[in-house]
Amino acid sequence: MQKEVQNNLFYIANSDDIKNGRTSDIYFRRTFQILKKKNKNPLVKAEVFLKSFPNNYSWGVLSGIHETLNLLNGVKGVNVSCMPEGTIFTEEEPVMVIEGRYLDFGLFETAILGFLCHSSGISTKAARCKLAAKNKLIFNFGARRVHPAITPMVERAAYIAGLDGVSTIKGAETIFEEPVGTMPHALILIFGDTLDAAQAFNETIDKNVKRIVLIDTFNDEKTEAIRICQHFSNSIYALRLDTPGSRRGNFKKILEEIRWELDIRGFKDVKLMASGGLDEQDIANLSDIVDAFGVGTSISGARVLDFSMDIVEINGKPIAKRGKKSGAKKVIRCNKCLLESKFFSSSLSKLDNKYNNDNINIKNFIPNSFLLNIDKIILENDSASFYNCKNCGKPYSELFERYIEDGRLVKNLPSVGEIRNYVLNQLSI
Ligand SMILES: [Zn+2]
Repeated sequence: MQKEVQNNLFYIANSDDIKNGRTSDIYFRRTFQILKKKNKNPLVKAEVFLKSFPNNYSWGVLSGIHETLNLLNGVKGVNVSCMPEGTIFTEEEPVMVIEGRYLDFGLFETAILGFLCHSSGISTKAARCKLAAKNKLIFNFGARRVHPAITPMVERAAYIAGLDGVSTIKGAETIFEEPVGTMPHALILIFGDTLDAAQAFNETIDKNVKRIVLIDTFNDEKTEAIRICQHFSNSIYALRLDTPGSRRGNFKKILEEIRWELDIRGFKDVKLMASGGLDEQDIANLSDIVDAFGVGTSISGARVLDFSMDIVEINGKPIAKRGKKSGAKKVIRCNKCLLESKFFSSSLSKLDNKYNNDNINIKNFIPNSFLLNIDKIILENDSASFYNCKNCGKPYSELFERYIEDGRLVKNLPSVGEIRNYVLNQLSI
């Protein structure tokens, strides 16, 4: 067995590897060696921003900020200002400015971008799914689609962006919530019957755990739904359909039929849960009949956001590569226009009929011109109070906050619940 496998069962970097720059690209290490040898270590300001979104998205949910701050906390002489975790942002807006001697933080570029790109990609997709689900519950069931080492990051990123719960024990610990789960096909296959498996679950599992019975394993979903409800009456919280694609036909029609049959038999309180390869279009299409969604691949395997980190000032002088504006910048925002417009939820509801009619592409349902109208990009040293919103005439508010001052975290980081509320408020949910 090779040495690294003996020492580490899984192919993962630990916190020390990341803090010591061992997950950085080698060219940063070489740059470090060269600059050190040639005695060059200027004071620089570097800006993190996104040139364009994947999939024609027009806005994103920023996350990975707290991990980035934890990485830079303790790095001597470094100052960090950024948008708070959970901020809705659009392309071309700087989201973070890092200031310090280049040799003190340049090596961390790979890790910083890794934190922000991956986490924000998941948060953005989760927020889109939450909007599509409207007022229905939506849970992350996608832990099995990612390397288990990053499950806590994935589940936290999805939860803070508005999901209502996560499925793994470790992920739930990270967000200080109880994990959410139903029952796997394995349980029903081993018992050989859905009712027997549900009975065993009921006898064994703590009464505080909601009873959600999976009804697609052996028989027709309608037959099983009626059988389960008639046996357990209203003590069942929900029935889950994970109907395989080969049998799905019109999934919405199956769900509507079950709802009807349950309602006329007095089981109006039993909820319906759908899972199995659902993406935002499916969620939008089913949200008027389904009470809860379990979403996997589309969130945990979301496209990353391609943030870049560029030097914009050296020794106080503006400088930038081609295609990039120089000078350290920040974003100011009119919170009044953001919160009063309810732009996100109203934009979505206008398209409701279209969702229900066909597989319309909803990827770009919110134009980035909205955010660009309520935000303004100004120089970092400038003050929001000097500018008035071009829509309502009220002064802008600062969006950036100073989190690290001279290498030390100087601000309490908000809790997971506070971040989630911040995201939901911006989305007017
Ligand atoms: Zn305004």
